[in-house]
Amino acid sequence: MMLNVDLHSHSTQSDGSLEPAQVAQRAKAGGVDGWALSDHDTLGGLAEAAEAAHALGLRFVPGVEISVLYAGVVVHIVGLRFDPENAALEEGLARIRRTRFERARQMGERLQACGVGGAFEGALRHATNPDLVGRVHFARYLMEQGLCETLQQAFERYLGDGKRACVPVQGATLEEAVGWILAAGGKAVIAHPGRYSYKPAQRKALFSDFKALGGQGIEVVTGSHTPDQFRQYARVAREYGFEASRGSDFHAPGAGRADLGRLPDLPHDLVPVWRDWLMEPAHG
Ligand code: MN
Ligand code: MN
Ligand code: MN
Repeated sequence: MMLNVDLHSHSTQSDGSLEPAQVAQRAKAGGVDGWALSDHDTLGGLAEAAEAAHALGLRFVPGVEISVLYAGVVVHIVGLRFDPENAALEEGLARIRRTRFERARQMGERLQACGVGGAFEGALRHATNPDLVGRVHFARYLMEQGLCETLQQAFERYLGDGKRACVPVQGATLEEAVGWILAAGGKAVIAHPGRYSYKPAQRKALFSDFKALGGQGIEVVTGSHTPDQFRQYARVAREYGFEASRGSDFHAPGAGRADLGRLPDLPHDLVPVWRDWLMEPAHG
């Protein structure tokens, strides 16, 4: 039997709705054996997450999801099992966080131009950590105002990539993000590769550049992929020699995608990113 490993999830430290300790409890309840909290551009929840996981007898790996701008598209790079005290990583993330506040102000102005008032203040009210104010918080404001019924609708109408109110995060370069993670002793993983709006040649360039920089893995089984994409990115992992990761990308109970631990196994021929960290049970 394969371990139930979930290496992608969010808390109130970024755009999730549960505190880090509550995410740990939900992972445990979902049957997870090995878990990473991977909030956007912050390490702020890791100490609480590690403590809660320890108390629950849940194996924990530090994680982070870094915003990167590559070929004009925001790409997410997940860092795993790095030293959470590493100064270069923390400074890099702090730089990204500083740009998010200004970006939110600009998104508020764009929504104003669409006839939606008070969105910047409204999004900040929904942001549990104002440094990490993001599109999900604007979406919650739009729902609260009765302007959209679901998060998905808010993204389709206003907030999604290329939509009227979207301003891209001023992320790190791919080289910076991978460099910070490796310097902190971690592994770098491309999050949900099926979600980026690249042409095939750009997608290939992302994989080969990432590989050349020392990036080790890609998410194959994620709450953001369809079953067809599980197979598609399993092929990419084989082709490029990437290790494979698995994670729900959990944000909030009932908020679509997958819940913690509730995902299919990785295809058995792939090398899991956690192979050297989390031991399979001897006999089951
Ligand atoms: Mn998110
Ligand atoms: Mn992501
Ligand atoms: Mn995520």
